[in-house]
Amino acid sequence: MISTSLQPLEAPSPAYICPLDQACSYLEAAGRELKLDQGLLEVLSHPRKVVTVSIPVKRDSGEIQILAGHRVQHCDVLGPYKGGTRYHPAVTLREVSALAMLMTWKCALLGIPYGGAKGGIALDPKRYSVGELERITRRYTSELIKDIGPSIDIPAPDMGTSAREMAWMMDTYSVNVGHAVPGVVTGKPLSIGGSRGREMATGRGVMIIVREALLDRGKSLADVRVVIQGFGNVGSAAALLFHEAGAKVIAVSTGSGGVYSKEGLDIPALKAYATGNHRSVVGFPDAVPISNAELLTLPCDVLIPAALENQITEENVNQVQAKIVAEAANGPVTLMASQALEARGVTVLPDILANAGGVVVSYLEWVQGLSYVFWDEERVNREMEHLMVQAYRQVIKHSRTRQISLRLAAYTLGVGRVAQALTDRGLYP
Ligand code: GLU
Repeated sequence: MISTSLQPLEAPSPAYICPLDQACSYLEAAGRELKLDQGLLEVLSHPRKVVTVSIPVKRDSGEIQILAGHRVQHCDVLGPYKGGTRYHPAVTLREVSALAMLMTWKCALLGIPYGGAKGGIALDPKRYSVGELERITRRYTSELIKDIGPSIDIPAPDMGTSAREMAWMMDTYSVNVGHAVPGVVTGKPLSIGGSRGREMATGRGVMIIVREALLDRGKSLADVRVVIQGFGNVGSAAALLFHEAGAKVIAVSTGSGGVYSKEGLDIPALKAYATGNHRSVVGFPDAVPISNAELLTLPCDVLIPAALENQITEENVNQVQAKIVAEAANGPVTLMASQALEARGVTVLPDILANAGGVVVSYLEWVQGLSYVFWDEERVNREMEHLMVQAYRQVIKHSRTRQISLRLAAYTLGVGRVAQALTDRGLYP
């Protein structure tokens, strides 16, 4: 029997906030601030290449299922396309297109020589066996064989994928071209040229940016109560690093619910609990159960949405009590909600800055691979921290000089650099 999970490309429900519309609004705002030529803005608002493939997979049961896979290459003016591969049931072409655009501005803001891309497959990885996931990943990679490569487009992990999927992608690509090509992906296992520090990198970057924002307010990480939505790769790493730095992490959640402790959660114990048989933080002893909606409105100093887009919206923004919101996910705060928070004096640390640690260490992995010299973790963390702090300072300075929000400052710096490069390169023909 053949079943299909191909999704309609358009938004299903009226409450849906389109991530691509949001991304285009940010681009338009940056364009106005930069007084960009309308034609140039048009170029930047369209992806250069969009690939959608059907992925037939034989389930362990023998059933054949067709999945939809995408790769959107937004812009390669500054260098090869770069961006993660997302496995999540809510993946759509629009979402992947929005995320690809964000990658372009993120890489430009951080000063790393990449363009922006994103890939994704609409599936819930928890519902597939390891063998099925391997077949899906290998077929997806095969379908993209001509579109990716170390100097073309370099995928990496994103939500629902990890070093394991990157190893399958690297192997599939290498077998197809006839020789080992470690540089085709980043976020690989150490055994095939991955970088030390990559797994914790996004969480570490979030911690660094929050730490800098606190320092600007005369505070330190030891002074704050932190709430984290999401306990995947990014959320759990951030939680651990905040905990180690002396912050009180009072609540965290996964998709199925969260846990709260006024005194601060024992994060190493929680991580062991969630990665063990439980596969969730729900039911963790010595903590109060809490829903995802409640978690976002808890009294705290720092709120870190580290899950999906559109978590803080017009609906719940007035209940948010945090003083700093750090966007560890891509697009977790909507444009309207972000403006409402800023109007109340809440600092919103924008995604393309706050969660850039992952792609920065991807870049460092690529650099190490190209030079055949591999660094210790201390060096990787130091180089990453340097790029993160530098970008943070540039954003703060720009926001103060121009009297604009941190988000607009970050987007303006990113978009401005790409626009300058595009102007210098000129249009072909
Ligand atoms: N998926 C991560 C992001 O959204 C990392 C991308 C990469 O390393 O290329 O930034």
